[in-house]
Amino acid sequence: MKKTIKKVVIVGGGASGWMTAAMLAKMLGNHLDITLVESPDIGIIGVGEATIPAIQIFNQILGIKEADFIKYTKATFKLGIQFENWSTEREKYIHAFGVIGAQIGPCDFYNYWLRCKNKYELWDFSINAAAAKENKFEAKDKGFLKYAYHFDAILYAKYLANYSQDLGVERIEAKVEKVNVNKVSGHIDSILLDSEQTISGDLFIDCTGFKALLIEEALHTGYEDWTHWLPTNSAIAVPSKHINNEISPYTRAIAHKVGWQWRIPLQHRVGNGLVYSDKYIDKQEAERLLLSNIEGELLSKPRHFSFTTGKRKKLWNKNCVAIGLSSGFLEPLESTSLYLIQSSIVRLIKLFPSECLCNEEINEYNKQADLEFESIRDFIILHYKATTRQDSSFWKDRVAMDIPASLMHKIKLFKENGRIFKAEEDIFAKEAWVQVLVGQGVVPNSVDPLAEQMDSQKLENILNNYIKQIAIVIENIPLHKDYLSQF
Ligand SMILES: Cc1cc2nc3c(=O)[nH]c(=O)nc-3n(C[C@H](O)[C@H](O)[C@H](O)COP(=O)(O)OP(=O)(O)OC[C@H]3O[C@@H](n4cnc5c(N)ncnc54)[C@H](O)[C@@H]3O)c2cc1C
Repeated sequence: MKKTIKKVVIVGGGASGWMTAAMLAKMLGNHLDITLVESPDIGIIGVGEATIPAIQIFNQILGIKEADFIKYTKATFKLGIQFENWSTEREKYIHAFGVIGAQIGPCDFYNYWLRCKNKYELWDFSINAAAAKENKFEAKDKGFLKYAYHFDAILYAKYLANYSQDLGVERIEAKVEKVNVNKVSGHIDSILLDSEQTISGDLFIDCTGFKALLIEEALHTGYEDWTHWLPTNSAIAVPSKHINNEISPYTRAIAHKVGWQWRIPLQHRVGNGLVYSDKYIDKQEAERLLLSNIEGELLSKPRHFSFTTGKRKKLWNKNCVAIGLSSGFLEPLESTSLYLIQSSIVRLIKLFPSECLCNEEINEYNKQADLEFESIRDFIILHYKATTRQDSSFWKDRVAMDIPASLMHKIKLFKENGRIFKAEEDIFAKEAWVQVLVGQGVVPNSVDPLAEQMDSQKLENILNNYIKQIAIVIENIPLHKDYLSQF
């Protein structure tokens, strides 16, 4: 007899647990019976503060008004990420969201820019980069600036907890003591709580963070370790006070000799952190390095984290789906973890089982999730591999390391004639790849012949005109801090 998939049990009440509960309740709430178990004794990671623009869509689907979100989570706006000291010890560039230039011919705009690269910078044609440079921001209805947010992920999880419970999600405060796995099917039958209550379910969502209580401890799914490509395995996070009332509308990612430091401005504080590998520096030294590079007064003690870069061999195994840190972890260089939670939830909803757990659907889910993880992995590796830094063994090792064939192919294609092709599951636009490639110092040997067709004078006029238009727009928008004051 076929069994309807009706009872969903989510274990974990961090950002992943509550984002999953909220979206499942919103989209499938009439059909599902959703329970979330969380243990305040275990606590949450709660350091996800920088995001990519897709988070806007997530909030829109949930019907969360931007103004409410900004106020509640103490958010600021983010136009991109400024990379400092990545290609050499002294250079910086921005990975700005949104378009670069406009469609002016049959090939991508950056191909035309490549023809004139000695005269103009790529970022002269990015409106986001221009606004970031002036610390300006405005969200207009038509959205001419493409943006994400910096926000307090703990407050976001709390907001979504209230939202989900209003939509009927049952919240249980307890610790899971045991996961009962069916000896015949290998599926999870139920979880046993420290309150001695047993909760059974049809589908279990593992949102237990790095612990991966269901997908790994109970189901032994296995983990693909990518440390050989991304060797950072430790982080320290500490908030500090703002030193002035300037709030930059971008994240800063500052490379050091043994890793990199983030600076993320929220309304009420700055989030700081260092990502490093303990092979090159010990915990105490790393803490000293971070603290000596923080400008404002510290607001709490530094918190230390350890992780292994990689992903679960199957993100959906039997009747258990891993979402959030339980599914894997890629360091926060491109602010992709909260996005991966969002896309996992959307994928799950698109493939949600109705009457049975069908292998084809599970395989499709895993295939799409793998491709997405791998494309982000490649994008992050690019920042380390394409550098000329030789000032420490950390950087020398990054330059010398082997990289995945998929990334090698991408770099070679760009180096030849400036060509970039976007795969379906790649979350990064061509503009993102070109900015990091150029920012890291990868320059094509020649230009796509299609871009050579345009007359030089005509091209120069178009480019000059574009720069003028950007300047006019930027002149007329407010400073980010003034724009924020309305919230
Ligand atoms: C250093 C660092 C920096 C980061 N920066 C960013 C960033 O800038 N941008 C971004 O998008 N992401 C970032 N992330 C990732 C982001 O923090 C996570 O994706 C996000 O917080 C979601 O975490 P989670 O909900 O999966 O796990 P957690 O927050 O760890 O939550 C786990 C939950 O499981 C529960 N739990 C565990 N065991 C049990 C049990 N036995 N019984 C009951 N409950 C249990 C806990 O109580 C908790 O509620 C960063 C991560 C790290 C480590």
